[in-house]
Amino acid sequence: MANEPKVALVTGAAQGIGRGIAHYLLEKGWRVALFDIDESAGLQSLEQLPEGRAATFIAGDVSNENDVRHGIERTLDWGGRLDALINNAGLADPHSGPLEDLSLTDWQRRLDVNLTGPFLMAKHAVKALRNAKGTIVNIASTRALQSEPQCESYAASKGGIAALTHALAMSLGPDVRVNSVSPGWIDVRAQQADAPTNLKPLPASAHEQHPAGRVGKPEDVGALVAYLISPEASFVTGQDFVVDGGMSRKMIYE
Ligand code: NAD
Repeated sequence: MANEPKVALVTGAAQGIGRGIAHYLLEKGWRVALFDIDESAGLQSLEQLPEGRAATFIAGDVSNENDVRHGIERTLDWGGRLDALINNAGLADPHSGPLEDLSLTDWQRRLDVNLTGPFLMAKHAVKALRNAKGTIVNIASTRALQSEPQCESYAASKGGIAALTHALAMSLGPDVRVNSVSPGWIDVRAQQADAPTNLKPLPASAHEQHPAGRVGKPEDVGALVAYLISPEASFVTGQDFVVDGGMSRKMIYE
């Protein structure tokens, strides 16, 4: 087992940041199981990989316990081990409208996918992760820390991720390390299944407002995840890491 390439399971890997993380880890020599509710986008993501990359796609809904159990079993059947679980799948649109009109069903769906999903994944992956002395990275958001109006269910789900992360780190250590990553604005338009070939560049003002001088890319998240799941991060657990080009450190009083 020690000489085999390590196996990561990335949820929401068909598109967006998850696709970026999966492709980044594959480039670094990981074997990667891509898990997503969108089967056609997932298979497309798999097809776009360079020849010889060790990846598989598993269709499923992170908020459905049977799908999660099946996803972990399929990953182990395919890869024989599980070293890293990346809980990235989410309903990524933060806007849910005026509070008075936010239905309990809408509120619960965001909580189910964004927060219950990572709990179910961790629950069913923990035995294999313990065996491998593995790690979990949960993708939260800077919206766990700051808000604009009408984002209650998304913000609550991401705040929950940050808290779930340190709770899991206490329960699963020292065998399994658990951290979260909170991205700011990551441009994922090119990583969508239906991305047009002639994407317009973002306006200069979008980049210039960032202290780092640009909007984020999926690889920015991939690089941080790759570090957190590596042996170099063996003293790092229970933490949240912001990757937002410095936006959440800016004074914004008018
Ligand atoms: P995206 O919509 O491009 O990709 C999300 C992926 O998750 C899709 O492939 C989708 O099919 C999948 N998914 C949705 N519900 C699922 C479910 N129930 N089960 C399995 N898969 C499911 O979104 P993104 O922008 O890449 O966001 C990815 C993660 O990063 C999300 O958790 C999001 O909240 C977080 N995030 C994104 C940004 C950003 O600027 N893009 C910023 C902060 C946090």
